Amino acid sequence: MAFNSFFITLVTLATAVIAQQCVPYSTPFDFKSGYPTVWTTPGDECFNTDEFKSVYNSIDWSKVPDIKPHELDSDGNLVSSGYPSSDPDCWWSYNMCVTPKVPGLKPDISYCPEPNTLGLSYDDGPNCTHNEFYDFLKANNQKATMYFIGSNVADWPYEAQRALTDGHQICVHTWSHRYMTTLTNQQVLAELYYTRKVIKYVMGVTPLCWRPPYGDVDDRVRAIAAALNMSTDVWNLDSNDWQMQPAGELTSAKIDQYFSGFCSKAKNGTFANSGALILEHELNSETMSKAQQWYPTLKSSFEYIVPVATCMNITQPYAETNYTYPSFAQYINATN
Ligand SMILES: [Zn+2]
Repeated sequence: MAFNSFFITLVTLATAVIAQQCVPYSTPFDFKSGYPTVWTTPGDECFNTDEFKSVYNSIDWSKVPDIKPHELDSDGNLVSSGYPSSDPDCWWSYNMCVTPKVPGLKPDISYCPEPNTLGLSYDDGPNCTHNEFYDFLKANNQKATMYFIGSNVADWPYEAQRALTDGHQICVHTWSHRYMTTLTNQQVLAELYYTRKVIKYVMGVTPLCWRPPYGDVDDRVRAIAAALNMSTDVWNLDSNDWQMQPAGELTSAKIDQYFSGFCSKAKNGTFANSGALILEHELNSETMSKAQQWYPTLKSSFEYIVPVATCMNITQPYAETNYTYPSFAQYINATN
């Protein structure tokens, strides 16, 4: 009984701390004008502005293939019936295509080219409860790539700033987290443009990378991202952590199986010639706990764990050239 009430007190305290962390706060930033409403897909209120028109008109649309947006069924899933099995649009959601069919588009970043190396990435932040998780990464001297949702940056700007201060790489993960191949050209452009704008406003950097929510990208969407000089980043190890209970339907043990499988692969030489890129999420306390639980085992299974830019030997991951990140060789020398 005494233990029970002690436990309940602990849980209550933890819940209170999380709740306190997530109380909206005011900042000198103004997200009311010049941005879409948070968690809404940009529409005419943005498209009709001189700012957006100028961005739209700066793009050479002749390089963007004329591909019809896909549709969602009544359950909210992408409709692929009727789509040709030859996958003419390199539609990732159809068959995980990462090599565009349209000439001139670069392949997606889907793995870490460095042997026995894991590219570490977390989607859907910044999360208002991420301090404990970021402290953990810091204590392990571990940098990662954070794919930030524009609406979350506007809601939690100080949490966003911490990611850059801690040395993580920042990339775009769209404004409202929709299936991007279902959107019009204007919407796709706005989802990317306003996320990058809010990141620049809050953190002072302009990312050159983005990740499509659910991996949903095709050559039309890739071409629009490429016009903004952004690489399209996916993954080749999916932890499926976002589907974990209670937010999703998979058990914690099921997620453990995925992580365990990745570690076995790393140990049996699967990544001896080229490494891996893992998808995890800064989505909720469960995914952040799972990330911390498996980090030591991943660390002992792979030779190196590095951010995505470091995998690619990209030392200037932002349009601003005064931000320099270590090369792969510099990173592993500094952390080992
Ligand atoms: Zn996401």
